[in-house]
Amino acid sequence: MKIPLVDLQAHYSVLKPEIMAALEEVLDGMQLFLGPQVKAFEHNFAAYCQCQYAVGVSSGTDALAIALRACDIGPGDEVITVANTFIATVEAIALVGAKPVFVDVEPETYLLDWRQLEQACSPHTRAVLPVHLYGHAAEMQPIMDFARAHGLRVIEDASQAHGATYQGRRVGSFGDIGCFSLYYSKNLGAFGEAGVCTTNDEALAEKMRMIRDHGARIRYRHEVMGVNARLDEMQAAVLNVKMPHLDQWNMARQTHAQAYTEQLKDVVEAVPIVRPWGTHVYCYYVIQATERDALRATLQQEGIGTNIHYPTPIHLQPACASYGYTAGLLPVTEFVSQRIVSLPMYPELTEEQIYYVISAVKKHSLCKRMQ
Ligand SMILES: *Cc1c(COP(=O)(O)O)cnc(C)c1O
Repeated sequence: MKIPLVDLQAHYSVLKPEIMAALEEVLDGMQLFLGPQVKAFEHNFAAYCQCQYAVGVSSGTDALAIALRACDIGPGDEVITVANTFIATVEAIALVGAKPVFVDVEPETYLLDWRQLEQACSPHTRAVLPVHLYGHAAEMQPIMDFARAHGLRVIEDASQAHGATYQGRRVGSFGDIGCFSLYYSKNLGAFGEAGVCTTNDEALAEKMRMIRDHGARIRYRHEVMGVNARLDEMQAAVLNVKMPHLDQWNMARQTHAQAYTEQLKDVVEAVPIVRPWGTHVYCYYVIQATERDALRATLQQEGIGTNIHYPTPIHLQPACASYGYTAGLLPVTEFVSQRIVSLPMYPELTEEQIYYVISAVKKHSLCKRMQ
């Protein structure tokens, strides 16, 4: 049996008629930018995240960079974040000219350890940028308390956590701004590049709308140097078709995760855990295995796709060399990066496929024990 890490074909085939109709409508109208589709998506996504405003942009990376710009963060400023994330989180900080400062994560959840914020804070610190990694909400209350006490902004990277909650409230609604990637493989994805920022601050929303469209609120009147980072109507039309299914897809992911966890918790070194204060929407289902690479090779032989999110922590990437960070700085991040592996996870996984993956993992660990 062949089981990919993510099956986009299965996802698309169900929605194809609806998506085609929506795209045709956009093309027939030929209003391709900042039209009714974007407006509707922004309205619906803001409501979904329990926020006042949403601003559609052209990618998750742009969402983060525009959010930082809107908060006036730039050269000379520091932003505290984590190193076990996709490079874009850190790229956005560098793009606006600020310096990323890293804290370690909790070993059970892989999420930002707020207890380390104090020691990472300097007179240059302007913001904290937690990542709701793999789909589990970061521990927002202590992060918000710390930020407010120190006059810092909070920008959430919710690119892997559309719909996840913290104490009953949706992620993206806690910080000054929430940033979401709508890349095609995320829990909610367009069929190209797309992203969105959420906020309850009207002034920040207005500023982000301006920055994404060449710094202009009125055409050809450029108040600030902006960028071209609008969400386009075609992508918004796809998102409007998918949006009503998001909760149901997240529930399917949770059901799959439960099956994996029940069957694998005594087999591998670690399965994902869910804190009582939050929910997990399993953008990725990540386990730990001591002989991770051997496990991946076995699964590959069985036709099962896996991945590592992420093999090299960002502070040790060549792109970060100029900051001078070295191995040993983030012991938990560095340790788990050697053991984590992501198993196939997408809403359309069948029970048969899940048990095929489970039995392949079990078989591998049984062989290992008998050696
Ligand atoms: C996907 C992702 C991004 C970047 O989003 P793009 O839409 O690909 O630019 C940023 N942060 C995290 C945590 C992501 O998973």
